[in-house]
Amino acid sequence: SIILGIESSCDDTSAAIIRGNEILSNIAANQEIHNLYGGVVPELASRAHQQNIIPVVQQSLTKANIQQNDIDAVGFTRGPGLLGSLLVGTSFAKSLAMSLNVPLIEVNHLQAHILAHFIADANPVPPKFPFLCLTVSGGHTMIVLVKDYFDMQIIGKTTDDAAGEAFDKIGKIFGLDYPAGPIIDRMAKEGDPTSFEFSKPKMQNYDYSFSGIKTSVLYFIQKEIRKNPEFISENIHGLCASVQKSIVDILMQKLIKAATELNITEVAIAGGVSANSALRQAMQETGQKLGWNIYIPKFEYTTDNAAMIAMVAKLKFERGEFADLSTSAAARYDLVSDFEEGKVN
Ligand code: ATP
Ligand code: FE
Repeated sequence: SIILGIESSCDDTSAAIIRGNEILSNIAANQEIHNLYGGVVPELASRAHQQNIIPVVQQSLTKANIQQNDIDAVGFTRGPGLLGSLLVGTSFAKSLAMSLNVPLIEVNHLQAHILAHFIADANPVPPKFPFLCLTVSGGHTMIVLVKDYFDMQIIGKTTDDAAGEAFDKIGKIFGLDYPAGPIIDRMAKEGDPTSFEFSKPKMQNYDYSFSGIKTSVLYFIQKEIRKNPEFISENIHGLCASVQKSIVDILMQKLIKAATELNITEVAIAGGVSANSALRQAMQETGQKLGWNIYIPKFEYTTDNAAMIAMVAKLKFERGEFADLSTSAAARYDLVSDFEEGKVN
């Protein structure tokens, strides 16, 4: 099958073509405009999606070297995300599926981050069920027990900020551009991760909290700046390395606890923050030490992309799970609401 995937949940307009499990093209238009505002401005995002969507889809076809009429189905991100952004992709996907007279397939963005692991070139071998997937992105942080493609259970999650949000907000305190995650990652490479110590949360079960570290960084910076106005610029590399280490330590600690207690050795990471080099390294080291088989998706399948949407659409296509044209964008859309209602913690 040849399937077009469309992603427009936040600030990236993306389109991808998948044939079988193989990605033929994965095109994204990033909206640089938000960098100026220190965060995504929803109104500007939806307008940019509207401008980008047709060229991006066109380019995905050209790059894959296929015609519109070769498409067997259209998959799109139904949610979760910014409503105005989702509406653009949803409306476009509906119109295209209708005009080509092919099935329309709705995709949950978070399932897609996780199922990106099954794209042919995401991993040397795909994970085996059941596996644990630390799903870390700009809006979500959770440990998911993946029992089958569409049988997932959230066993722990953040009670406040997401890990990506923590990177971005702390980066803002340091005066870095949005999104700060990748910038902190880059700066940290030249810094000592033991330069500064920030408080770690004491959370129950497999849950996370990231608002504490953000506040602790803020107070620390305010105090130091009063003594030395140049404190940030003089210490930026050490600050970035220390913050990154704290966040990665917090993430890994609960993941190790879950894997050990559930006796699972298939362990994956997914979502935008899984692009982080310190997290990837911690996964390698921990995997080695504890005998895990680890799954770290190829870089381009970590942050928002349409390849992962096309992957889920392909799995649903095989199952004949099609949407009807009355489907609508869903800003809130639970990872597990599709299937085992009531089995979620
Ligand atoms: P969600 O998937 O929860 O709806 P989202 O789609 O906005 O949220 P993603 O695109 O999956 O999130 O991830 C974006 C987040 O990943 C941002 O917070 C960004 O700072 C962070 N991020 C990206 N690359 C890195 C990196 N190398 N190190 C740390 N964080 C990173
Ligand atoms: Fe995402």
